[in-house]
Amino acid sequence: MDAPYCEVALPVPLRSVFTYAVPIPLREQTVPGSRVVVPFGRRAMVGVALSRTNEKPEGPQIREIVQVLDGNPALPPALVELGRWVADYYVAPVGEVFRAMLPPLVEVRTKREVFQTPSGTQAHAALSLRSDLSDSEKEEWELLGQLAREAKPIGVHSLRKNPRAEAVLRRLQRRGWIEIREVAGGRKGRTQKIVAWKGLEGTVEGKSIATIERVRKVLAEERGPLPLPMLLRIARVSRAVVSRLVRVGTLETWDEPLDPGEDPFDADFVPPANVLNAEQERAVGEVRGWLDAREFSVALLHGVTGSGKTEVYLRSVQETLARGRTALILVPEIALTLWVGRLCRAWFGAKFEGVAVMHSALGDAERAREWWRVRRGEARVVVGTRSAVFAPLQNLGLVIVDEEQESSYKQEETPRYNGRDTAIVRAKKERAVVLLGSATPSLESYHNARTGKYKLLTLESRVENRPLARVEIVDLREEFKSTHRTGPISTRLHAALAECLQNGTQAVVLINRRGYSWFVMCRSCGAAVQCPNCSISMTFHKKRNQLACHYCGATRGVPKICPKCDSEHIYFFGEGSEQVEEQLRKEFPEARIARLDRDTARTKRAYQQILGAFADGRLDILMGTQMVAKGHDFQKVTLVGVVAADALLSLPDFRAAERTFQLLTQVEGRAGRGELPGAVLVQTYYPEHYAIQDAVKQDFTAYFEREVHFRKMMAYPPFTALANLIVRDRKIE
Ligand code: ADP
Ligand code: ZN
Ligand code: ZN
Repeated sequence: MDAPYCEVALPVPLRSVFTYAVPIPLREQTVPGSRVVVPFGRRAMVGVALSRTNEKPEGPQIREIVQVLDGNPALPPALVELGRWVADYYVAPVGEVFRAMLPPLVEVRTKREVFQTPSGTQAHAALSLRSDLSDSEKEEWELLGQLAREAKPIGVHSLRKNPRAEAVLRRLQRRGWIEIREVAGGRKGRTQKIVAWKGLEGTVEGKSIATIERVRKVLAEERGPLPLPMLLRIARVSRAVVSRLVRVGTLETWDEPLDPGEDPFDADFVPPANVLNAEQERAVGEVRGWLDAREFSVALLHGVTGSGKTEVYLRSVQETLARGRTALILVPEIALTLWVGRLCRAWFGAKFEGVAVMHSALGDAERAREWWRVRRGEARVVVGTRSAVFAPLQNLGLVIVDEEQESSYKQEETPRYNGRDTAIVRAKKERAVVLLGSATPSLESYHNARTGKYKLLTLESRVENRPLARVEIVDLREEFKSTHRTGPISTRLHAALAECLQNGTQAVVLINRRGYSWFVMCRSCGAAVQCPNCSISMTFHKKRNQLACHYCGATRGVPKICPKCDSEHIYFFGEGSEQVEEQLRKEFPEARIARLDRDTARTKRAYQQILGAFADGRLDILMGTQMVAKGHDFQKVTLVGVVAADALLSLPDFRAAERTFQLLTQVEGRAGRGELPGAVLVQTYYPEHYAIQDAVKQDFTAYFEREVHFRKMMAYPPFTALANLIVRDRKIE
């Protein structure tokens, strides 16, 4: 450890690492994975120390590392290696990769604390008795004295006011007189204030209309309820203005608990403890064997919807913990971290000291706290979304990737990576077992299982042998011929919904498009209103009275005349969820209906309220986008209606058929999960498409054979690897 230089990854959008000189007093601590403070340009920056080197870098002036933030390196060696792999494989800026792996820096500023140990207390007493202290001993004595006087741990930050403190601290730490701990501190109440628009009540004196209008626009039109600090930033208003508006009743606020994954029902939540059936038992048995072999292996757990995959996950985690190792569970969306986190806490929380939940919507303080709990080994199970693949677990035994086919595992911004694939690479480096779970595996993973690269575990039947729902196609071409109706709900679906309502059971209706109409076109010249940034057609949102691009988020007013030819014949078509909701309310005025999509479920709270109401039977029909298709286990649903099965097929994506098959299979799985049998109606204009046919028959193998044949013929993945190169410039030449 005395190489004089060190490579440092800095959070800048460059692919290179930077070499700094390591001053002699810092040589021991500057180990790979430690966070270091270095000068960069005219700023100081925090980066991660990578490898030490003897090679003098080129350049006129070599700058020095100023400070090492960690006693123990923040990142364990396996993660340092993984970070370098991600940067290399995904051609991502190395510093940005490491930034994504590290806890937010709030920690550095506020949360390291110094504790005096018993031997530190003794040492202080001994030094106090002596009169011949050297300068350095005097420094130590003073610091120990300060710690004793304060009688409680002191933040490292406050000690730093003394410029020599850092060096003295290190000496004391080495002698075991003090301990420096990363502690979760900072914010106390773990709630955040949410602000929502209520309506203009009376007059607000002294505030310009423009300010209020800005707040209204943000809260009522663009974003929905927001955490207070975010509102302040986006609407550019002051806290005082917000308080005033709350007082006059224009805005309302409430506190939303911030604690990741914690919800008020936890205390009396009793997790189901089922006796595993033979298929589940066999799957867990295999996992046990792989864990005992302590070798890397990947298995695809292919289980039809309702086959009890979650139970297999939980038992596998249990087996892992029992062997003294740790487990990581990745789920495709934030909402699922709550549910799975809750299950895990109920199963493992008490016995094994803890479960951490990690996802991108956590505030900095929470994220840092969860991160350090994991790093210190206090939490041995991590449940999270894709970025949790970098959770600093040590002695990793098991990685579960639930719904492995989901595209949300792919990070679409810098640093780009695929969470599922990174999880596999990580497991390989740490000799862990990977379980990829799905009812509709990605073509790539199933192909790997078929060819023996992965192991295959299959759960063929639903638990307690409940039958899969009966699925029926409604051919919309026939429907139109016989009824000449053009609404989104066919007579067949209408009748089935009516029957459902009469029987007092529940229905799920899927329409995989947000907004009111997803196409706005001119009848005179045929031009569609397109997003100026993305050239894709903009969606009409009736409630907001606005057109929005669902790709980049750009919005514009609703044109009265064609922007191209000034014609007045503007034509809206293509039903979105907003319109289908309107139609359902019209057709079933007595039914209790809720819409679940990104517009209605903007916050965790709104999302949970809608799902909670449906689960409690306070709603008859839950309709919405793919959010209604995901993972929920509603026992009273007997009918699932798919408004437009082909909406996804027309997308210019070689995975269009795959996505269609997956979504249909998933939503079909929502019906008949309880005692009552389920039925599914699938409306489509292309009933002969294989993705729809096979989804209706719920025949994964048949679909797989056709799809894999197509991929092979067209030389698409998994038979080739595709990379997307985007070239950007201000001018096109
Ligand atoms: P999947 O994720 O495969 O769709 P789940 O794991 O959600 O299925 O399980 C569906 C339901 O079956 C859950 O309510 C679960 O508690 C229950 N379940 C799981 N395993 C068993 C079992 N062995 N016996 C009875 N019920 C079970
Ligand atoms: Zn026109
Ligand atoms: Zn756009």
